Amino acid sequence: MPREPGSLMNALLDRGVTRRDFLKFCSAMAATLALPPRYEIRIAQALETAARPPLIWLEYQDCAGNTESLLRASKPTVADLVLDVLSVDYHETIMAAAGHQAEAAREATMKAHQGNYLVVVEGSIPVNDGGIYCCIAGRTALDLVREVCAGASAVIAAGTCATFGGLPAASPNPTGARSVSDVVKGVPIINLPACPMNVENLTAVITHYLTFGSWPATDQFKRPLFAYGSRIHDDCERRAHFDAGQFVEEWSDDGHRKGWCLYKMGCKGPQTFHNCPIVRWNEQTSWPIGAGHGCVGCSEPGFWDTMTPFYERLPDVPGVGIPVQTVGVGVVAGVSAMFAAHGVLSAIRAKAQPLHRPQAEVEAVDISEPQEPPRPTGQPTVADTGAEAPEKEGES
Ligand code: SF4
Repeated sequence: MPREPGSLMNALLDRGVTRRDFLKFCSAMAATLALPPRYEIRIAQALETAARPPLIWLEYQDCAGNTESLLRASKPTVADLVLDVLSVDYHETIMAAAGHQAEAAREATMKAHQGNYLVVVEGSIPVNDGGIYCCIAGRTALDLVREVCAGASAVIAAGTCATFGGLPAASPNPTGARSVSDVVKGVPIINLPACPMNVENLTAVITHYLTFGSWPATDQFKRPLFAYGSRIHDDCERRAHFDAGQFVEEWSDDGHRKGWCLYKMGCKGPQTFHNCPIVRWNEQTSWPIGAGHGCVGCSEPGFWDTMTPFYERLPDVPGVGIPVQTVGVGVVAGVSAMFAAHGVLSAIRAKAQPLHRPQAEVEAVDISEPQEPPRPTGQPTVADTGAEAPEKEGES
């Protein structure tokens, strides 16, 4: 096995990671990336000699849930991830340094690796009143994120707050919370929404970059298709109960105890794209629906404003004539029609609850629309889910 000085593999070996564990990690990454098994070898070969990418982790308006997710990484462990796989040179929440020492570490990384370091941004960026609602070392988050990201090779927005604004951007959005894509231009951005992001997806994105020298294909919201290319509903372990018309009617009823479908309890799985059912959480032991709670749609644009009330089911639409009680028993066309109907309702609700700030306030911070990459042909679109794309500034 090569022992390239400074390589990722060298660092892992020094940490006592065995060849078997390393190959298991490569296998898990190939599976997460939805690659055929033969890519395990290619990933292993690439990682054996890959340089450890320097990384700066910025945290702004959020609950630190994505850092919590990072700290619970199991493949690799947090020690591997923080100390070996990535060279995390700056992370306000978990780094030992503080104050001027911490700021010096960030500046040194930016200077030494100009154009080659990665940035992870956690949390939204407030822009109201000059951005004063989130300041670090006397500077606004808006000022800092633009400066740090300008010298990065790529930016990963971790979690829904960084990706779409999240809870801080929920109406009436008093701080003017914005996403990374809203305020950072000219740098590749990968969005990993969810509340919080699943660290398996972060690791897989970086593994893809180190293996292929490119970022994974994304949808129109810059979400990697390997993680956000299919509906939760389509991979859900309770789907057979949905198709059979077996629904939980109230918490702790017989259907709930039997693991029936949570559609009537407000599950947003039919409108949500994420690999939650596949990757799961806590070393793949469970996930929200597996634990008996409906999906709340946390990885979709407008989460909070468009996905609440969480415990009201996606509504029927007058005229469609397919009440959910009769869905199942093989009514494929009926299910499709119902999803289309949900899309109409979603659009109506999104219109009723504007997700973004008035145009005058947007112009005050000179934020233009991000350029969205086209979705590859044949891949699912968000329109398939009935979810509403975020309203562009200036549209009513
Ligand atoms: S409605 Fe929710 S619980 Fe039911 S099958 Fe779909 S995703 Fe699963």
